[in-house]
Amino acid sequence: MLLHRIEGEETVAATPYTTGLNRIADGCYAWFEPPGSWGLANSGIVVAGDEVLVVDTQNDVPRARNLRNAVREVAGPREITTVVNTHADGDHWFGNLLFEEARIFATEEAAAQMRELRRDPRIIRKTAEAAPGPALRNFLTWRADMFDYTGWRPVFPTDTVSTSKSLTVGGIQVDLIPVGPAHTTGDVLVHVPEHGVVFAGDIVFHRTTPMVWTGPLSNVVAACELILSLDPAVVVSGHGSAAERTGIRDLCDYLTMVHEHASARFAAGDTSFEAFKSIDLGRYRLWAHGSRVFQAINAVYRELDPDGEQVPYHEVMETVLAHDAY
Ligand SMILES: [Zn+2]
Repeated sequence: MLLHRIEGEETVAATPYTTGLNRIADGCYAWFEPPGSWGLANSGIVVAGDEVLVVDTQNDVPRARNLRNAVREVAGPREITTVVNTHADGDHWFGNLLFEEARIFATEEAAAQMRELRRDPRIIRKTAEAAPGPALRNFLTWRADMFDYTGWRPVFPTDTVSTSKSLTVGGIQVDLIPVGPAHTTGDVLVHVPEHGVVFAGDIVFHRTTPMVWTGPLSNVVAACELILSLDPAVVVSGHGSAAERTGIRDLCDYLTMVHEHASARFAAGDTSFEAFKSIDLGRYRLWAHGSRVFQAINAVYRELDPDGEQVPYHEVMETVLAHDAY
């Protein structure tokens, strides 16, 4: 028994958060990469009929190979016919080269962003050396040590969606629900109604501070509310353990709190950095990577003043990473 209900409505996800394959429902598995910090993303596997669906393909070649082997373990000779990349961050699609035989879905926006290949992992060490600040340089060096791109090449989505689309995989319905711009410009949720499972990508960071690259925050909250409205038994987050309703509600509360603080400081004439310095994270201070709130605050400022000056990526990362232990 993986799930049990308490007080009627609340579902407690009892799926352990251990590296690798974890069964979450009939034929449905989450692949976890604890502790789920930078670049360590979750994947999903759904085995149905004689087909397999994979959601997100891991960040590097060895991790993608491990995921591929895990599919064989639970699905035997069944064919991987469908892959979904939930968005364009590398930790969710760099492993596509191990799944080339499948149709690979993403939103139009995400696919376009992937094709830009702004952060080519093959040159990550060079990028680290050229980083304009010490925090970003150290971080990229850590990433270069952490992930292995030997033999890597980009494999892009073969199919794009711009509105909700239902697929049939091995006889069961799989709904792709675009919800961006939110975490990035082109996020998509994957809903498997028959098993009550949502693979949320980075719309859901579970009990760890979310990164909101694009925003608006209200779209992330709306996407979370949409997930709740699907009444899933389990939500596989992009980073962190499997989530239940309470975890999604906490995330909404956190984003609402950040939005309120940033809006008030914007109205008072503070810079986004000043708003970052003055925020009281309250009970969310226990979530790892708390300094990511700086980018969420920037997203609110962008929403309130679209023509205002944007804090450039490397400056955001200098501030966020200077306060982060990875
Ligand atoms: Zn991610």
